[in-house]
Amino acid sequence: MPLVSLRQLLDEAAKGGYGVGAFNVNNMEQIQGIMEAARATNSPVIVQASRGARSYAGDRFLYHLMLAAAEVYPEIPVALHQDHGNSPETCISAIDLGFTSVMMDGSLEADGKSVADYEYNVAVTREVAEYAHARGVTVEGELGTLGGIEDGVGSGEVHLTDPEQAHDIVERTGIDAIAVAIGTSHGAYKFSKKPDGQVLAMHLIEEIHRRLPDTHLVMHGSSSVPADLIERLNAAGGKMKPAFGVPVEEIQLGIRHGVRKVNVDTDGRLAITAAVREALLAKPEEFDPRHFTKASREGMREVVAERMVQFGQAGHAGDYEPLSLDQMKQTYAETAAGATS
Ligand SMILES: [Zn+2]
Repeated sequence: MPLVSLRQLLDEAAKGGYGVGAFNVNNMEQIQGIMEAARATNSPVIVQASRGARSYAGDRFLYHLMLAAAEVYPEIPVALHQDHGNSPETCISAIDLGFTSVMMDGSLEADGKSVADYEYNVAVTREVAEYAHARGVTVEGELGTLGGIEDGVGSGEVHLTDPEQAHDIVERTGIDAIAVAIGTSHGAYKFSKKPDGQVLAMHLIEEIHRRLPDTHLVMHGSSSVPADLIERLNAAGGKMKPAFGVPVEEIQLGIRHGVRKVNVDTDGRLAITAAVREALLAKPEEFDPRHFTKASREGMREVVAERMVQFGQAGHAGDYEPLSLDQMKQTYAETAAGATS
């Protein structure tokens, strides 16, 4: 199966009433772990790469690893998404490389740190949407800013999404999905104490979804940061401070109110580091690196499979025939023609 459109994958998730995890990757073991989890749970899947991942692995390596994933797991619809594109240039280079979806994060300026003004956001997002849709590629925008910093991205300031403005930016840019700031943060240290329910501004999710029933809502910073992973990591020589993520039940509540794409990065990082530390500690005499790279792949597979079941995407890989990007391009062209006539 070729890499598929994120738009179609999320449209199907909306029909089925489930969410789809978007998991970050930097190397072969993470991609294999995700694809094994998708096969075991029969899930459609979103694999995403940040700018940091693209520079770590190298564009060509990353892209060809993803082509291998699509070839080796033909029964799994998989979308390849650019996470937090900081400028139209980053998004356009991802599209030219073969990504089937891009995020233009115009909530921040191109430095990925300074909070941008609204008109700037609209302008860069529209520019990317025009380029992407002409090629059948999906676009995610962002409105509002999350707390926390990850992979060098983030202002550290929290500005919750304004539903009125969300409606306006979708209307003016034609984006397929919108990342909303509804109380989550990037990174492992999302909350200073264990969150007691009501983590998310659920009324905002409901209101944005009501105003934009055809635009898919995206939750960033949605790792759950499980206590047992931190315990394992620390028991094997790690030194992580106590950290609290978004409880899975809160994410499930979000999914029931219209969230379709759920970004998970930290949980994969924790699972891998815990597994590698344990493997090294268990066999200090071992010097074949496959001993711990294999453990890293297994750690990723486990946490991803668990999330796939929890988000509801499990069992849905075979629900539909993937549309080609050419077919998607056609659909975008027809929608645009319909809008102007
Ligand atoms: Zn994010």
